[in-house]
Amino acid sequence: MTKPDFRREAEALFDEMVATRRDFHQYPELGFQETRTSGIVAQQLTQLGLEVQRGVGQTGVVGLLEGTKPGPTVLLRFDMDALPIQEESNLDYASRNPGVMHACGHDGHTAMGLALAKIWSKYQDQMAGRIKFVFQPAEEGLGGAFAMIADGVLENPRPDVAFAMHVWTPEPFGSVRVVEGPCMASSSVFTITVQGKGGHGAAPHLATDPILAAAHIVTALQSIVSRNINPQDSVVVSIGQFSAGTTFNVIPDKAILKGTVRSYNEELHRKIYRRILEMATRMAEAFSCKATMETIAIVAAVNNAPEPTAVVRQAVVDVLGEQAVSSRRTMASEDMGYILEEIPGCYFFVGARNEAQGCTYPHHHPRFNFDERAMIHGVAIMAEAAAKYVLPQSENETG
Ligand SMILES: [Zn+2]
Ligand SMILES: [Zn+2]
Repeated sequence: MTKPDFRREAEALFDEMVATRRDFHQYPELGFQETRTSGIVAQQLTQLGLEVQRGVGQTGVVGLLEGTKPGPTVLLRFDMDALPIQEESNLDYASRNPGVMHACGHDGHTAMGLALAKIWSKYQDQMAGRIKFVFQPAEEGLGGAFAMIADGVLENPRPDVAFAMHVWTPEPFGSVRVVEGPCMASSSVFTITVQGKGGHGAAPHLATDPILAAAHIVTALQSIVSRNINPQDSVVVSIGQFSAGTTFNVIPDKAILKGTVRSYNEELHRKIYRRILEMATRMAEAFSCKATMETIAIVAAVNNAPEPTAVVRQAVVDVLGEQAVSSRRTMASEDMGYILEEIPGCYFFVGARNEAQGCTYPHHHPRFNFDERAMIHGVAIMAEAAAKYVLPQSENETG
């Protein structure tokens, strides 16, 4: 057989991908609520002749494409969830669900996954091995990957290799980030509750002000990265929410801080948490308050294995040329890290920024959008990467 030209195949499906992506974009669904999206996914995979399983990790869908010859199992993963953001893009296909928006590009990922299933279903007869198409719910901090693993997505059959990707506006269109080793940070979130004693704003001496104590904690926490961590290590501590009080002249009972920690290394992560806890409790004490801390949802760093990363890198070169390879890392995080803890694989970033199209906003911004042609690149690269495993005879041929 001649080696398939996946770039051309992806280009041929571009209009269809755009239509599918824009449909998902208009009807975004939050994590574990992706019933419409996963319904469409399951229906299309069934039509393509895949063996489809629904309800894997609540709203997740798995489609298995079994080749005619024995061989490895390749897992391709696509996330489907949107974010609790009110869209401000003014696009004619903007979200019709108030307060919910595909502001990360997962609408594109789902459309790309369906295009890949369509492309590969044509090669089923030539495949040695199988491809597991995994459509994951709730990537945005709700533990969708974990829920799918708990429901057995990594068993029967167990994948030999796993790939996932993200359309990425920090990277220009035409360029693809692929990095061996850690490429996305481990992430966890924490809540600090500062308990004081409420009172009248005009009589602060009779109250114990938790806002003042919490404000000092916020300031102090920023010294952890600058004073306690080796400058060679990449670490972030961010407070994203500070809630306290109800009105002008009442000192409230308590203040609540919510934040996130990012790093590439679990030991550092634990060290940061020890310092956050020490600072919060002692600083609160200094203001006669009491601080307690809860931490949840530690997402593992995304760690790319050498061999699958080399395969993706080669796929990028084959599809776009050597100049397209970029090797920057990011402090963002991804629950694909859970899958890559168990299965060797590669997570890569498909450049999708385009100034001329106004696709310049960061992910999670209410005006986020991406250059849709990035979907062609992502599909072609992922198809090439999978081919290295399930179409081994194509390796020696020129494309
Ligand atoms: Zn996101
Ligand atoms: Zn995302």
